[in-house]
Amino acid sequence: MAGFKVTQKIDDNMKTRLQIEGAMDEHSDYGSIEAEFTDEVVFDFGDVSHINSTGIKHWVQWVEKITADRPHLRFVFINCPKAIVDQMNMVEGFLPSNSKVQSFKVPYYCETCDKDTVCTFVAGREYSVENGQLQLTIPDQKCGRDDCEMEPDVVEQKYFRFLKPR
Ligand SMILES: [Zn+2]
Repeated sequence: MAGFKVTQKIDDNMKTRLQIEGAMDEHSDYGSIEAEFTDEVVFDFGDVSHINSTGIKHWVQWVEKITADRPHLRFVFINCPKAIVDQMNMVEGFLPSNSKVQSFKVPYYCETCDKDTVCTFVAGREYSVENGQLQLTIPDQKCGRDDCEMEPDVVEQKYFRFLKPR
């Protein structure tokens, strides 16, 4: 598997967008990122293959460092795979407090057919926060047969915990 890579872009809204690819592990070096940290930074985790404990530590330390001097900086996370969602749920500081998860992946599975797929949940579509309450809609997925359907292959109480207003 390819190594760690960060590609920097300025998106249509003039926000800094950082696309992270490969493994977030002992080789993940955020020090090389020379982004202009404006008011909002978008992180695209869509091509992260896996993450290990050293990668988690590098990430948390780097996020703490860039936010220390910029208390108004906000983060938007998009395309978060399960590996990243698991860390958001388990690791204190992985998801900075000034952040919003715009989209993330949910694995689905049909036991009857032994088929799986991945579904993308998007803020404002599958989930939103209204009056301090999380509104979550978990859509069914067709598995190709009429008499069964795919269900999320996660423990819902745990997997969606990071969405709860803090
Ligand atoms: Zn099925």
